[in-house]
Amino acid sequence: MAKMRAMVVRKPGGPIEAEERDLPVPGHDEIRIRVQACGVCHSDSLTIEGHLPGIKYPRIPGHEVIGVVDALGAGVRGWSKGARAGVGWFGGSCGYCRNCRRDSAFACENVHDVSGLTRDGGYATHMTAHVSAVAHVPENLDAVQSAPLLCAGVTTFNALRHTGAGAGDLVAVHGVGGLGHLGIQFAARQGFRTVAVNRGRDKEELARKLGASDYIDSAAEDPAKALTAMGGAKAILATVTDGQAMQAIAGGLGPSGVMMVIGAVGPLTIDSFDLLQKCAAIKGWYSGIARDSEDTLRFSLLNKVASMNEVYPIEKAQEAYQRMMSGKARFRVVLKMDA
Ligand SMILES: [Zn+2]
Ligand SMILES: [Zn+2]
Repeated sequence: MAKMRAMVVRKPGGPIEAEERDLPVPGHDEIRIRVQACGVCHSDSLTIEGHLPGIKYPRIPGHEVIGVVDALGAGVRGWSKGARAGVGWFGGSCGYCRNCRRDSAFACENVHDVSGLTRDGGYATHMTAHVSAVAHVPENLDAVQSAPLLCAGVTTFNALRHTGAGAGDLVAVHGVGGLGHLGIQFAARQGFRTVAVNRGRDKEELARKLGASDYIDSAAEDPAKALTAMGGAKAILATVTDGQAMQAIAGGLGPSGVMMVIGAVGPLTIDSFDLLQKCAAIKGWYSGIARDSEDTLRFSLLNKVASMNEVYPIEKAQEAYQRMMSGKARFRVVLKMDA
């Protein structure tokens, strides 16, 4: 039987080890993808460190995948072998449950899959996915460069376009990292007056190059006061992983402003008086479903949004993961399969 190469986590805490496996056979409504590139996302730590109960090991992590359709399971329509395909955090949906019928397929009551978490993901030369989870990938997008758009990209793009902010509105991107460096590009190209907020000045030049027209050093000044002095933010895209920092900027929302929380920081303390006075909102944002990924990819191609990546061969997944977790990568880390 044909084989694939995979990087496998055998128990919580890792390590991520190479393994040769039989090629997976796509089940009903499933597609097999020959993976070309897979991003290494902070959420992979849920699988690798065993932070979520119920994960079954051994498990192949990875949910920022671009590849090519390699085999079709029974019942799959709309796809053919050789088509470019992308998979993100969204693991698919049934299409008929209450949530699917109300345009909330991300919260499907029947399909609860997440690639790399509840089923094997993209740290491998091949993987399978539910057909509803798979996004079409435009021909001219480079797989290695664009893989992070399937999670970090769609999350920031999709959150920003649902803030209610319009062209010219003041939008702050809090955190210039893996998410933020994409968020700045999307915010600027969606027509917002884009303010990058980060500790220190070392990322200011880059933030401006990516499209920020303004920059706030949150170590030197109170970011909430600085945004308020600019008229208050119509939206804040909160990408940081530090709850205190996130709390410190919430007061920078303007009237009817929305803070989109996409950094997982656990409990967050917010001044309700400030919120109701301003009619402001703090809102969580789920990444997006397959069609959101398709919108992200097309928008990125048209508007030249690109992830800045450090690339590792698949065999170095452990090193790549540690590099991502160190917080020092500029800015995303990507595994390349056919290196
Ligand atoms: Zn992710
Ligand atoms: Zn459903």
